[in-house]
Amino acid sequence: MIKENSEVILSVRGLTASIEGKPILKGLNLEVKAGEIHAIMGQNGSGKSTFSKVLAGHPAYEVTGGEVIYQGQNLLELEPEERALNGIFLAFQYPLEIPGVSNLDFLRVAYNSRCKHLGLEEIDTFDFEDLVQDKLDIVKMDASFLERSLNEGFSGGEKKRNEILQMALLEPTVAILDETDSGLDIDALKIVANGVNQLTTPENATILITHYQRLLNYIEPDYVHVMAAGRILRTGGKELALELESRGYDWVLEEEAAEVSA
Ligand code: ADP
Ligand code: MG
Repeated sequence: MIKENSEVILSVRGLTASIEGKPILKGLNLEVKAGEIHAIMGQNGSGKSTFSKVLAGHPAYEVTGGEVIYQGQNLLELEPEERALNGIFLAFQYPLEIPGVSNLDFLRVAYNSRCKHLGLEEIDTFDFEDLVQDKLDIVKMDASFLERSLNEGFSGGEKKRNEILQMALLEPTVAILDETDSGLDIDALKIVANGVNQLTTPENATILITHYQRLLNYIEPDYVHVMAAGRILRTGGKELALELESRGYDWVLEEEAAEVSA
């Protein structure tokens, strides 16, 4: 379902970025409207995680050209914290473990920072626990995970569910999920997908970075993009994901090469 009249919330034009002097993103274009779900697929090393980290403002990546307009403002000028406060959320491919910081405290601090930014009242520990309780149901997580150190000793699937829990609390405008499906068994995959589906509204947008078509059986994207060598080479509907699953990625690169040389 393509929403013709929705507003563009994220517009990426000609984005180029390097790490340690090595160009990774080479002219990436993407336009995301409110209410849309975009899937970005591509082989390992095509630059998907780099793109997600550049959007989030990871300091190791140098943007060398192009622009990113988010809700009418130049996203690239904002500090990573400001991006998060303004509603950009990145679920990491490899969530960090932070020993000594309880998951509950981490979530409450993140939640209250966002409240403060939005001019809303911050909430105390007791009210926050009630709020978290509701969100735990979305990802079918046990409350005991709140008392543990952030991600420490969590299984792969638990870490990914914890990322969705953060998303549920922070209610981002643009959520970028970097391979949140990888390493999940089918039950965890369904829980994560259900969580994402429950959090999707006409006002927000989701960018799903994924290797596998199977996630798209549970989350229906409006667009599927193929990324290769730091650019989006092709865009289609969800049928494109099925085609990639059966044919692999080489044909996209070959067609692109043929078009370039024609
Ligand atoms: P994807 O997520 O699509 O697998 P990445 O964005 O992780 O791709 O990586 C794109 C390219 O950037 C790869 O060739 C990778 O080796 C390189 N790269 C990523 N991070 C670094 C880094 N810290 N130093 C050097 N090269 C990097
Ligand atoms: Mg990656």
